[in-house]
Amino acid sequence: IIASQLVVPEEINVNWKDIAGLDHLIKELRETVILPIQKRELFADSRLTQPPKGVLLHGPPGCGKTLIAKATAKEANMSFINLDVSLLTDKWYGETQKLAAAVFSLAVKLQPCIVFIDEIESFLRTRTQHDHEATAMMKTQFMSLWDGLITDPTCTVIIMGATNRPQDLDKAIQRRMPATFHVPMPSEAQRERILQLILQSEPTAPDIEYKRLAAATEGFSGSDLHELCRQAAVYRVRDLARDELAREAETKECKSSTSDSDEEYVDA
Ligand code: ATP
Repeated sequence: IIASQLVVPEEINVNWKDIAGLDHLIKELRETVILPIQKRELFADSRLTQPPKGVLLHGPPGCGKTLIAKATAKEANMSFINLDVSLLTDKWYGETQKLAAAVFSLAVKLQPCIVFIDEIESFLRTRTQHDHEATAMMKTQFMSLWDGLITDPTCTVIIMGATNRPQDLDKAIQRRMPATFHVPMPSEAQRERILQLILQSEPTAPDIEYKRLAAATEGFSGSDLHELCRQAAVYRVRDLARDELAREAETKECKSSTSDSDEEYVDA
């Protein structure tokens, strides 16, 4: 009951077409993650070809890690559980152990399934002597549940983690994520493609200079570019709305001055 209330599989509405400039990464994900799901019987045959049960996406914020995780689930026809780790780390929440077990059993029920954990390092960081006892227990339990997936060759549940700080991840966790992908800040050419994708179905001027825009946005992530386009679009609509209001006010003024002179005429 707890899991069904707190952890719900997400309906995904993005696919590869919503990701720009990362063709090489998409190809790698297809080969490493999706192919073994689609042709499980071939890969599960030998211990050497077991599909990965852990995938790590690492790189700076806003560069598409969540987008990639969701699109992978969509393209592979997998269920997607976006696990909010604060539910597992909240020390006041007495049910965390049951919850972790429930998440794994839900994922197995829904398989093939991706369990996505954003900022995975905040939850599975390098263990220290200062760890709260409940935190240490929860990590150990999480890893043993994960091992259950790893040792079952028929299981098609993947834990997919995203992090900006891979160096903070516990070594034992890194070992459980043999498929690791870097999602970098976009280059100039990638920014050009991201801008084209964001604006492709928007009412824009026909002569946008994408190359110039890409060159002028050095250091922008995909998320920054999205925000830039959003602001530009909002400014444009605000201008239109202001013009329209001004025109309406003018028309009203015209009408009232005409009706005033009509009244004067009637009075006379
Ligand atoms: P964080 O580390 O902050 O969670 P993230 O790497 O998971 O960030 P996303 O949430 O996937 O980044 O990306 C944020 C938004 O930026 C996306 O919803 C999308 O609009 C845009 N975006 C980022 N990268 C790309 C890309 N390569 N192609 C298209 N859109 C992108």
